[in-house]
Amino acid sequence: MRKRRPSYRLVKINYSYTVEEVARLFGTHRNTVRAWVNGGLPTCDRKRPMLILGRELAAYLKARRTKNKRPCQPGEFYCVRCRAPKRPAGEMADYIPITASQGNLIGICPECGGMIYRRASLAKLPEIERILSITFTEAKRRVSESSLPTVNSDFGRSEKP
Ligand SMILES: [Zn+2]
Repeated sequence: MRKRRPSYRLVKINYSYTVEEVARLFGTHRNTVRAWVNGGLPTCDRKRPMLILGRELAAYLKARRTKNKRPCQPGEFYCVRCRAPKRPAGEMADYIPITASQGNLIGICPECGGMIYRRASLAKLPEIERILSITFTEAKRRVSESSLPTVNSDFGRSEKP
């Protein structure tokens, strides 16, 4: 039983919807619509009832759909804890090679502070490097490098250097 994804094609772009109307349009719960608003769907004003422009609604659903199809943009890693693609904190990541052509990119989630990973091929790195600054780390060397003091403790690292 696959839930049907709300189609932006149902939305009349020149119409202003209340939360109720949007919920009815997609046969979904009002709380779902409120979650969209919290997730970045713009509303007209703070008055009651809250109004959502059809144009904004269609754009939001369209963007969300693209996002679901491609969970991570080039500079984003998927955070398991946040269940969302995240751009690593400080726009920084370490590249740790696994094979000659494949490796892992490791960063820190700006939201929860957890480690976020992404598999990447060496060939794809130039594309990612346009967005993130990547430190190349050799897997073997990394062990001895862990004895370096932590420069920035803002990420709440608790382990001793
Ligand atoms: Zn996270």
